Amino acid sequence: MKKYTHISFSVGIGSISLSLFSIFVEIGFIFYFLLFVFILIARIPDFVDHTLYREHKRRFLTHSPLSPLLIGISIILGLLFSFINLFLGVVVAIVIYLVFLSHCFLDALNPSGIPIFRRRITFKSIPYDNVKWNILFFIIGAGIAILGLFWFIILDF
Ligand SMILES: [Zn+2]
Repeated sequence: MKKYTHISFSVGIGSISLSLFSIFVEIGFIFYFLLFVFILIARIPDFVDHTLYREHKRRFLTHSPLSPLLIGISIILGLLFSFINLFLGVVVAIVIYLVFLSHCFLDALNPSGIPIFRRRITFKSIPYDNVKWNILFFIIGAGIAILGLFWFIILDF
């Protein structure tokens, strides 16, 4: 999918899962900070792909649920937040990883799919720049982002 579709969908997945975890752990203003972090996380797979390989090839390193890079970034960010609160660190690591998975999921809808082990998987054959599907996932992403935000605000009071 296109850049803004990935950003919207990633922020949505991050927002809704963080608001779910906020039932169990005190997140506070960090919630809003993390929404911005999700924008960067949404861009990392394609950014690294373009930087290393000069094209959007969706390699194992950048677009696999098993990628050591994506898992590593999730763990490192989780460790950073564990200085504030150990449980918060665990939540951040899980949510960041889910955001990476949401990027992989959207790209798995394209014909070339994403790599898992030595195989590539694809769920559907939607061209990455298909306007209707991009708009659909952009709206779904924005919708669940707002839902997560409101849910968090309500739970936070
Ligand atoms: Zn991608």
